Amino acid sequence: MKSRVLLESHLKSLKLPTFVREYEKTARQCAEADQGYAEFLLNLAGLEVAERQRKAVHRRLKQAGFPSEKELDGFDFGAAPRVNKKRVLELSRCGWVANRENVVMVGPPGVGKTHLAIALGREACRRGLTVRFFTAVGLATAYAEAREERHLLRLESQIAKRDLIIVDELGYVPLGQGAAENLFNFFSRCYERTSLIVTTNLPFSEWPQVLGDERMAGALLDRLTHRVHVLEMAGDSYRLKAGRRSGKRAAVTGPVADDEAEGPGEEEEVRED
Ligand code: ADP
Ligand code: MG
Repeated sequence: MKSRVLLESHLKSLKLPTFVREYEKTARQCAEADQGYAEFLLNLAGLEVAERQRKAVHRRLKQAGFPSEKELDGFDFGAAPRVNKKRVLELSRCGWVANRENVVMVGPPGVGKTHLAIALGREACRRGLTVRFFTAVGLATAYAEAREERHLLRLESQIAKRDLIIVDELGYVPLGQGAAENLFNFFSRCYERTSLIVTTNLPFSEWPQVLGDERMAGALLDRLTHRVHVLEMAGDSYRLKAGRRSGKRAAVTGPVADDEAEGPGEEEEVRED
């Protein structure tokens, strides 16, 4: 009895809560399976590691601040014929994050840009990467608030610590000069340090209008597209399409393509200059 109390106290001070919880059960199972001490320890350590990993993923998902829980599993590639499934699955393996590359998703509203951005971000969290989700407006606001409160350095160091930052909806709302400048500073800071996923309804040619300043837009695009994977997403809004499918009128569905269909504009575009 005394040794048990002592053991649990040691395990607690070693911060091995799963050992505390599981050691008796694991010992029983090992005895039944005729396994020795080393296997007992291995099984227990395996449980502890698995539990730690599960908690770490949970923590990273929480800290990312995703607005919803979209997953790749829930993405209907048949309804998005221009999106190359193979390529998205490759991106979900996150090699590009390790290489400090960026992903830009361009397309009209409702085609699944935010869905895919969140899904890729969640996958990155599961792979041990730290992620933060912002809308472009939210990011500009965070900068403005930080500046007011002189917390800019803290915000920037928080941002610099992440492996991947998602900037959703760039271009939906024209930004004022101050906000555009903040975003410019943000993109500069991330350049070759932090990977980005940017979703936008704007073709690159229209960025100067939204950013209000030709030179700044040019410099920003330069940084963002230095090493970039562009996913062009076109077509009808998924919600409208889904509405039409479930409606009474004969369905006017969009083209349904093979999962692996290689749509126009789907070429890999990794500029390295
Ligand atoms: P966008 O960001 O391009 O405006 P969203 O990602 O917000 O579009 O998509 C709008 C809604 O439609 C979301 O609820 C999203 O989950 C859903 N959606 C869009 N495209 C697909 C798809 N191909 N498969 C499943 N759901 C989709
Ligand atoms: Mg969106």
